[in-house]
Amino acid sequence: MDVKGKNVTVVGLARSGAGAANLLAALGARVTVTDIRRGEELEHYVRQLSASVRPVLGAHPENVFVNADMLVVSPGVPLDIPPIARARAEGVPVIGELELAYQLAGNKTPFLSVTGTNGKSTTTALLDFMMRKGGFRAVLGGNIGNALTEEFLKQREGTGNPDADFIVAEVSSFQLESIQDFKPRGAVIVNITPDHLDRYHSLEEYADAKARIFENQDTGDFLVVNHDDPQTMQVVRQKVRGNGRHPAIVHFSRKEKVEGIYAEEGVVYANLPALPLSPCPFPLIHADEIRIKGVHNLENAMAASAMALLAGCSDGAVTASLREFPGLEHRLEPVRSLKGVTYFNDSKGTNVGAVIKSLESFTEPVILIAGGRDKSGDFSLLKQLIRERVKAVILIGEASEKIQKAVGEAARTIRAGDLRDAVMKAKDCAADGDVVLLSPACASFDMFADFEDRGRQFKKIVGELE
Ligand code: ADP
Repeated sequence: MDVKGKNVTVVGLARSGAGAANLLAALGARVTVTDIRRGEELEHYVRQLSASVRPVLGAHPENVFVNADMLVVSPGVPLDIPPIARARAEGVPVIGELELAYQLAGNKTPFLSVTGTNGKSTTTALLDFMMRKGGFRAVLGGNIGNALTEEFLKQREGTGNPDADFIVAEVSSFQLESIQDFKPRGAVIVNITPDHLDRYHSLEEYADAKARIFENQDTGDFLVVNHDDPQTMQVVRQKVRGNGRHPAIVHFSRKEKVEGIYAEEGVVYANLPALPLSPCPFPLIHADEIRIKGVHNLENAMAASAMALLAGCSDGAVTASLREFPGLEHRLEPVRSLKGVTYFNDSKGTNVGAVIKSLESFTEPVILIAGGRDKSGDFSLLKQLIRERVKAVILIGEASEKIQKAVGEAARTIRAGDLRDAVMKAKDCAADGDVVLLSPACASFDMFADFEDRGRQFKKIVGELE
């Protein structure tokens, strides 16, 4: 892709928009970046822009769209907003940041990409850890906090990892909506459960967006899927091309002996006969030796292991990584024990599916702090687990009433004014041996900048408890 001298408009100025704009400018494009939010709100990102990038903020003037040679749309911006639709109708090519990254690097450096409703970041970070331990040079990016384009720019400037062997990318359904040719060498769908139903009309539409991760994959590529997840398996059956020109499909399962990676009686096995490894199946690790805990992390561990082995990583490096990888901040992160009560920060538990997995990870009685901005979640799905494991639910934010109505019969519910109040109320409810868990089942934007801000505030408040 040659963007030199082209007029490119980047739509949406946040991390990935800023990354894309700066990279395009460095490649010689004339770049405009536009966002409907005003400059004051976007100051942090405006400051990051290269001098030659022109910001047009607070509105989406039509000429910025229809006069462009190409639009690069950030994942947070829906593709059907009127100015984008108009530009498309005028024949302006529209791509997303992921496609841009692929066009600029994907033909040279293979992508290993991870999608799913929950577990993407953990699986991506673990896969990156494995590849590095296996001696490969990997670039890590995507939805995971640093835009891929940012990483490419670092490479150009000589401060990044040059000549990477693999690009390890976390990709969201939003990013997949705007791909064209994106064709990862390896792809994994960790799971598909309801989320973002404020943006998608149905679970099927959401699943279809996720399935685009393998849309362009071919023989020679591989697709790793969660055998135990019905929605994932359904979409794979429906969408994998039946003409023989499709990726090798490899499974992972906690329940059945599959071709791929599976767990049986506490041992994780690799069963990949196509690879020149030890005679298959062979044991990779005892599940309780895996450093990240919980059934969901066992799934993430199996998903990452399959990807790494298929990408050529040694089983020794995979096993060592499973023992060593410490997990990510804000995902079932132990914060502190005080008077026999352990506090966990699971601020990234932003949907019902994630909270189910987090609750399943505890045998101790739980005081659950939940609530925030609702993403059309069906909170009644939590009822059963709350009845079994939760002593009290402390509610914060916009969704408080909806959650109270949905689960109020299953446990005591208490409304709190803010996060500090919620932690205080949780502390009052907790007894020796209990767990206090922040796992909100909601987005954070009603009260916090993002889930990281929410998690850090939680940790600070918990740190100050006496
Ligand atoms: P994502 O990047 O997809 O949001 P993360 O790895 O950041 O995923 O994990 C987010 C939250 O989702 C975690 O805090 C945990 O509660 C839950 N979670 C993680 N892995 C899984 C999984 N495999 N299945 C279901 N829930 C999970």
